[in-house]
Amino acid sequence: MKICLFCQQNSIESNLFEWLFDFASHEKYLCQTCRQLFVPIDPQTACPGCGRKQSVRKLCRDCQCWIKNSSRQLLNNRALFCYNLPMKNFFERYKFRGDYQLRLIFQRRIQQAIKQLGNKRVIIPVPVSATTWQQRGFNQVEGFLEGIDYLAALTVKPDFSKDSQSHKKRRQRLASPQPFTLKPQLNLQQQACLLIDDVYTTGRTLYHASKVLQNAGVSSIKSLTLAR
Ligand SMILES: [Zn+2]
Ligand SMILES: [Zn+2]
Repeated sequence: MKICLFCQQNSIESNLFEWLFDFASHEKYLCQTCRQLFVPIDPQTACPGCGRKQSVRKLCRDCQCWIKNSSRQLLNNRALFCYNLPMKNFFERYKFRGDYQLRLIFQRRIQQAIKQLGNKRVIIPVPVSATTWQQRGFNQVEGFLEGIDYLAALTVKPDFSKDSQSHKKRRQRLASPQPFTLKPQLNLQQQACLLIDDVYTTGRTLYHASKVLQNAGVSSIKSLTLAR
């Protein structure tokens, strides 16, 4: 009998139908109770900019502000689940406590979405800094991409870490310098790309990552996050 990866208490009732058709979903690793905790976002009605869950497909308030107050180009993000309390808890355990096996819960769901979005696109994960990598031992985004072809095209500049950012004054922080660079000797000219990140919060991370890819001459960029 399999035990739920999330609560690590309840067993998973195997549904013959699911196993037969090999549903590529998060449901294989979760008990009935935990399945209900994660709220999926319907792409038909989500915000076309950030992927936020909405009842009608239109630009959300954040994305409207984004366009109005900056010259920034809107992202074209697809998010799979709402960033609710259980999802926050998931990331707390996966990222900050480094429970690497938790990647399995959403790995298949993300890869399924990549197949839908990423046809002939270069799959590019958002990187973590060297310091984070040393502390955590893995890149949480790459954990989701295990077993599929992707290109770790971006790196975090060595002098950039979240810690150094948090010491800066608020105004400096808002100016938000570019944390990423393209790895040398990569040619992404005229390539269509799909950026993958864990959570869309302010959009700043994906914005910076997109900017680097745009400067490298890619033809189009979409992005996919597990949560929004
Ligand atoms: Zn459970
Ligand atoms: Zn939006």
